[in-house]
Amino acid sequence: MKYNIAVIHGDGIGPEVVQEATKVLDTIAKKYHHEFVYTPVLAGGCAIDAVGECLPQATIDTCKAADAVLLGAVGGWKWDTLPGDQRPERALLGLRKELGLFANIRPALLFDALADACPLKAEIVEGGLDIVVVRELTGGIYFGEKGTKETPLGQAAYDVEQYSEEEVKRIAITAFEMAQKRNKKVTSVDKANVLESSRLWRRVVTEVAKDYPDVTLDHLYIDNAAMQLVRNPKQFDVIVTGNIFGDILSDEASMITGSIGMLPSASLAKGNFGMYEPVHGSAPDIAGTNQANPMATILSVAMMLRYTFGLSQEADDIEQAVKAVLAKGYRTPDIYTEGTTKVGTKEIGEYIRSEILS
Ligand code: NAD
Repeated sequence: MKYNIAVIHGDGIGPEVVQEATKVLDTIAKKYHHEFVYTPVLAGGCAIDAVGECLPQATIDTCKAADAVLLGAVGGWKWDTLPGDQRPERALLGLRKELGLFANIRPALLFDALADACPLKAEIVEGGLDIVVVRELTGGIYFGEKGTKETPLGQAAYDVEQYSEEEVKRIAITAFEMAQKRNKKVTSVDKANVLESSRLWRRVVTEVAKDYPDVTLDHLYIDNAAMQLVRNPKQFDVIVTGNIFGDILSDEASMITGSIGMLPSASLAKGNFGMYEPVHGSAPDIAGTNQANPMATILSVAMMLRYTFGLSQEADDIEQAVKAVLAKGYRTPDIYTEGTTKVGTKEIGEYIRSEILS
C-alpha cells in the first residue's frame, strides 16, 4: 500500500526528531512492503523566515490532500518578540481549524524501564499505566465568544463555554470506539454540578454510550478526576473531556509517565485523517546537538499507523521496539539515569530500527 504523508519538520529539534521518525517508517515500509511518500511543507518559524507567514496556504492545501500529517514542533527564541497573532505557534491553531482536527488523543503510557521517572509512589503505578485522554479540540471556552466590557466595578472580561450536541456526540464516539479497542471503559469528565454546558455534555455522552453496550461509562467531575489521576490512576482507561479540562488533565496524565520526550499525540478529524506530533515543543536549548529524544515522535508515527492507516501490527512493532531499546538500557540525556547507557538522537533511532528488523 502507498500512503501520502505531509511532513512539517518545523523549528528547533523538530527536523531532528522527524528525521528519526520517518526513517522508522522507512524501516516498516521495508519490512511490510508498504510505500510512504513524504511531502515536506513549511509551518512555524521557518515558514515566517521563508515566506513571511507561519502557515502558508500551500501547506494547508498539501496537508488536506495527504492521508496524514506528521509535525515536529514549531517556535523558538528567534520569533519570541513577534506579536501573538504572528508567532510560529499560531500555525498549530490554524492547522487544527483548517484540517478539522476535533479530537486530540494523548496516551499516557508508563514504560516499565522508566518507572523510576514517575513522580508517584511505586505502589500506585505497580504493574504499569496505560491511559488515553481524548480531548475535544475545536470547541468550548477557547473558541467561544469572548470580550471585555465596562462595569461599575471596572473593566470585566468574559469567555463563553459552549458545546453543541453534535460536537459532544462526535468526540464521545471517538472515545467509545477507542475504548472498544482497549480495556472497554470510558470516564467522561465534566463539571455538571455547576455548568449548564457540562449537563448537556453528560446527557449526550450517556446517550452515545447506549450504542456501545460492551463499554462501561462513568462520569467524574473535573476536580475529582484531577485528584483521582494521582491517587489511583490505574482506574482509568479512556478519559473523554472538553477542551479546557482536557488541556489540563492531559498534561497531568502525561507527567505521571515522567518525560516529555516520550509523549506522542494524535489530532483526528472526521474519517481517519489525523495530524501526529510529539507533545513537546521545539526545545531550542538543545536544538542541533543530537540530544533530543526522538521517541515521542517515533511513537506518534506508531499512532499514525494504528489510527489513520489501520496498520496495528506495524504500530505494535514500533512500540515493542521502543520498549526493547529502553529495556536494554539505552537512554537519551533527558531520561538518562546512572547505570544506563547515554546515547544521542541518531543512535537511539538506529537502535529502534534495528529492533524492528530483528
Ligand atoms: P519544550 O517542550 O520545547 O521544552 C521544555 C524542556 O523540555 C526543555 O528543557 C527541552 O530541552 C526539553 N525537551 C523538550 N522536548 C525534548 C525532547 N524531545 N528531548 C529532550 N528534551 C526535550 O517547551 P518550551 O521550552 O516551553 O518551548 C520551546 C518552544 O516550543 C516555544 O517557542 C514554544 O512556544 C514551542 N512549543 C511548540 C509546541 C508545538 O510545536 N507543538 C508545543 C509546545 C511548545
